[in-house]
Amino acid sequence: MSQDNPALQAPEYIQAIQPYIPGKPIEDLVREYGLSPENVVKLASNENPMGMPASARKAIESVISGLSRYPDPGGYDLKQTIATRLDVPASWVTLGNGSNDILEMLGIALLDQDSAAVYSQYSFVVYRLATQARGAQHRMVPAVDYGHDLPGMLQAIDEQTRVVFIANPNNPTGTFLGHDAIESFVSQVYQRFGSRVTVVLDEAYNEFIEPDQRVDSVSLVRRYSNVVVTRSFSKVYGLAGLRVGYALAQPALTELLARVRQPFNVNTLAQVAAIAALADDAFVTASAQNNAQGKDVLQSGFEKLGLTYVPSFANFVLVKVGDAVGINQALLKRGVIVRPVAADGLPEWLRVTIGLPHENQRFLDALTEVLQTAERSA
Ligand SMILES: *Cc1c(COP(=O)(O)O)cnc(C)c1O
Repeated sequence: MSQDNPALQAPEYIQAIQPYIPGKPIEDLVREYGLSPENVVKLASNENPMGMPASARKAIESVISGLSRYPDPGGYDLKQTIATRLDVPASWVTLGNGSNDILEMLGIALLDQDSAAVYSQYSFVVYRLATQARGAQHRMVPAVDYGHDLPGMLQAIDEQTRVVFIANPNNPTGTFLGHDAIESFVSQVYQRFGSRVTVVLDEAYNEFIEPDQRVDSVSLVRRYSNVVVTRSFSKVYGLAGLRVGYALAQPALTELLARVRQPFNVNTLAQVAAIAALADDAFVTASAQNNAQGKDVLQSGFEKLGLTYVPSFANFVLVKVGDAVGINQALLKRGVIVRPVAADGLPEWLRVTIGLPHENQRFLDALTEVLQTAERSA
């Protein structure tokens, strides 16, 4: 009976959601192609190829015996550590079960069926999901050169708009906007709309930018009550499996997020691991260095193959391969997992996470082989 479907009772805007497509897990490939896990290279989810920091592992081991207890609901120590490091009050910090959790909280707190969110074409898919989950309107602004068109986004802000999402660097394209562009955007939004429009600066890849090139987003939070900065422990800090991220905002927005935050959203292991990782400058520096070198290898590899790519500021490179479905399949058969991005509106492109040197080479060798085979059979 077709009516016997509880999903059809959900609001139409929920039924309309296209679910998030995650990177293919190694286990799936092992099962589907009979490969052994050691021979699979996963460059699909922008994880840290150096693994998790040893300091975080040690911190986790030290708290395992306490796991029958709930985590610290306020995440006191982690908030203090973040606040000290960034020189802001701890009352400006919100912890999330990954920074996705915070994007979701922003949607819940700021959006409803009468309001709208502005974000860019080819930007992070979670902005769309967080918007749709509230039945709110989208104002998707066409990208310029695969990045955010800030003047276009400013123009797209209307009566209904309550939030603007900016991924910087952007995922899946890897583009980056410098401090002056971001500051100018934020100040214009504030002048025109005041606190009615919140600007979310999603800096999940911030640590891959050279320190002197980064946006001084903390200063923007200090100056503008409508700015939220989100950061993640999933990328350079190597803790994607633990799910932890944070937001910085002045007290009014921080208190708003506290109303919709689940009480124990960041688990005990994640809290102590994040504290350790944040202090582990050696690990972060080594990760950023591996990334910078790997980026050069991938980008010059693409040049040699005559492929177009978007110069990246993050830990992945977006490359145009043409028949992305076919090439992705052929790569999977060779034990290499990358990320097709057709669902982001980029059907001819693949997003490749920067790996360890031998992983980058495995990928480039496989890609070279696949492209040659495709040419011969064409
Ligand atoms: C990876 C990523 C995140 C962070 O995800 P977590 O939930 O912290 O793992 C946020 N924004 C963008 C643009 C990302 O690519």
